[in-house]
Amino acid sequence: DISGTDNKGFKGHDMLAPFTAGWQSTDVDPLIIEKSEGSHVYDMQGRRYLDTLAGLWCTALGGNEPRLVDAATKQLNTLPFYHSFWNRTTKPSLDLAKELLDMFTAKKMAKAFFTNSGSEANDTQVKLVWYYNNALGRPNKKKFIARAKAYHGSTLISASLTGLPALHQNFDLPAPFVLHTDCPHYWRYHLPGETEEEFSTRLAKNLEDLILKEGPETIAAFIAEPVMGAGGVIPPPATYFDKIQAVVKKYDILFIADEVICAFGRLGTMFGSDKYNIKPDLVSLAKALSSAYMPIGAVLVSPEVSDVIHSQSNKLGSFSHGFTYSGHPVACAVALEAIKIYKEQNMVERVNRISPKFQEGLKAFSDSPIIGEIRGIGLILATEFVNNKSPNDPFPPEWGVGAYFGAQCQKNGMLVRVAGDTIMMSPPFVVTPEELDELISIYGKALRETEKRVEE
Ligand code: PLP
Repeated sequence: DISGTDNKGFKGHDMLAPFTAGWQSTDVDPLIIEKSEGSHVYDMQGRRYLDTLAGLWCTALGGNEPRLVDAATKQLNTLPFYHSFWNRTTKPSLDLAKELLDMFTAKKMAKAFFTNSGSEANDTQVKLVWYYNNALGRPNKKKFIARAKAYHGSTLISASLTGLPALHQNFDLPAPFVLHTDCPHYWRYHLPGETEEEFSTRLAKNLEDLILKEGPETIAAFIAEPVMGAGGVIPPPATYFDKIQAVVKKYDILFIADEVICAFGRLGTMFGSDKYNIKPDLVSLAKALSSAYMPIGAVLVSPEVSDVIHSQSNKLGSFSHGFTYSGHPVACAVALEAIKIYKEQNMVERVNRISPKFQEGLKAFSDSPIIGEIRGIGLILATEFVNNKSPNDPFPPEWGVGAYFGAQCQKNGMLVRVAGDTIMMSPPFVVTPEELDELISIYGKALRETEKRVEE
């Protein structure tokens, strides 16, 4: 993700760096990562950093899992490529589809479609939903509701679904068929005296009001990450998804679960939908699907949606959508092996075993005068720096408090995700207790240095 970063002063963490790196420009001085090992990465000078973001929330099995390398090599030696068009496919692609449909139990899923990324998965969702409503003879049911601060990707449509101004401005986005409803961040947005449950009730009511204002017959789908990731790691408040799902269901609106960050164990359940009792009609996956060793994303489609799309009586013709690399056999072989490892090594149980140390170890710093909130669940967490512990009293952006903290972490051998004054972490599932000790210790050191700097 490239969302929300606005600090210009800290190379390696500013918005320019990922862009210019992508463009292979030489006008910045990027941190060049050369090698990875477990939860650590090394730069060109051999300096070692604890990679607390698992790359970009994705290298769940850490930096040097030989089984993934073997799976890729074996597949490259057998069949480096064949496509998945016109009723042709490859065994890894078919096996991975079966595996994912089997694994996702929050709601029965019938079909899988493979993409190269999370953005493509979410773009595919929009086309699926449109096609579905066309097939049902309701071509006006086309609008999408996403949430402020959501991150759903960078392509035109997924950036439209994204609820971060940085992804819209200068691009004529969001597209007119995308609406945004409230960000469910209790600490930041609750009214005085309002409980989490009451906050959730209010947000569900706001969603319903928006649907009624637009006309329920025009709203096709609602999309949500179980825990918001790049928008600041925002776990849902109590009862939120129960209440939101009731509204969505009432108006015959499809629910898309964007599980790109939450799936495969990050929250301490195999999928984020399991954690919050979400019963989606469509699911987006990527990132930990292959532990990021190969680019791959996926869309899972419920039988109700897929039956309409594939029904004999559907007069629309085929669902014409596909990428050359959909179901790339090497990416699928790596994803199959990653899933085998998650299962064999009981990764969900492992995350549950080690995450209290991560969560409690860091939340112990909540008393810091410059910290407003430390929030998270499982192996995902954010720290938000504010003045006077108040969500309504940010530090002046030119102070670059978050960037300074990030720089102190980097100086001490740790990489974190900085977005303004929010610091995000999602370490690999294989992070060890010793590495968590290291993480907490460097965090503490960087925090003290940042407190001192703010006082000055
Ligand atoms: N959805 C979520 C929840 C994400 O966090 C991301 C990326 O960070 C995406 C979608 C987009 O995925 P990609 O960067 O693979 O296109």
